[in-house]
Amino acid sequence: MQIYSPIHSFHCQNSTQIWVKRDDLIDPYISGNKWRKLKYILADASLNGKNHLVTFGGAYSNHLVATAAAAARNGLKATAFVRGENVMNEMLFLCQLFGMHLIFVDRESYRHKNLLFEQYFKEDQSTYFIDEGGASEAAVKGCSEIIGELTEPYDYIFCAAGTGTTAAGLLRGINIAKLNTELHIIPVLKGGEFIGTEINRYENDLSKLHLHTHYHFGGYAKTTPVLIKFIKEFVAETGILIDPVYTAKMFYAIDDLLSRNQIRKGAKILAIHTGGLLGMLGMKEKFFT
Ligand SMILES: *Cc1c(COP(=O)(O)O)cnc(C)c1O
Repeated sequence: MQIYSPIHSFHCQNSTQIWVKRDDLIDPYISGNKWRKLKYILADASLNGKNHLVTFGGAYSNHLVATAAAAARNGLKATAFVRGENVMNEMLFLCQLFGMHLIFVDRESYRHKNLLFEQYFKEDQSTYFIDEGGASEAAVKGCSEIIGELTEPYDYIFCAAGTGTTAAGLLRGINIAKLNTELHIIPVLKGGEFIGTEINRYENDLSKLHLHTHYHFGGYAKTTPVLIKFIKEFVAETGILIDPVYTAKMFYAIDDLLSRNQIRKGAKILAIHTGGLLGMLGMKEKFFT
């Protein structure tokens, strides 16, 4: 399968050049790392003769839209358990338009994903369980392929992390190719130290991994006026769209580390644009108040 994920670059402060792996351009709906993660999950579902994807997510989940679109394009059925009360928003609207069936479940039930799957689909041999965010060994494998697409060496690779699956894939790619590249990960949740443990479930050698746990701006999907101002300037100056939940926190971190001389002068920096730009349509108010 041929994909479109070029590398672009722009100049930021003191004219440092930053390269960006544009996984956001792979597809508007099966976006960025969600496409990477679903690649081998879909292959495995098909190998096992499953034609109904069942997955989990919050009401603004990029993973749900990606799974809905991927299912529709591959002639599969899709069902999602959505955390929280019955709501409708831009993301869930797209999921439904792609034919995904939504089941809203309270937060307590949502915590027991395997139980939910059993309850609803125990008798149904056609269903295929996909964890929240697509987290799985197959997803790590898909994300590791990003490294194989690079045609030049980089000193630093930066990426945002939610579950750490994408980060694990990048680290695997770096380790397998024995690259001399440092992987710098920005957890977007508060208390992001756990990402190290998550990555360690898939990769033993963490020597190339660097976690920056203080760029969460208050927690998952939280923003501050400083972050919003950064996004407005970044998008207007580079023409590259970034979102407040994931990629803005990563680009902010790069900018901040550069200004504090935490990045070697002249080092070659690659940022992974993991896509997921639709969710920000539900955050417009934050930009205009
Ligand atoms: C889901 C998502 C992430 C988080 O990926 P993990 O593999 O869960 O760490 C990062 N960026 C974007 C844009 C996403 O949609």
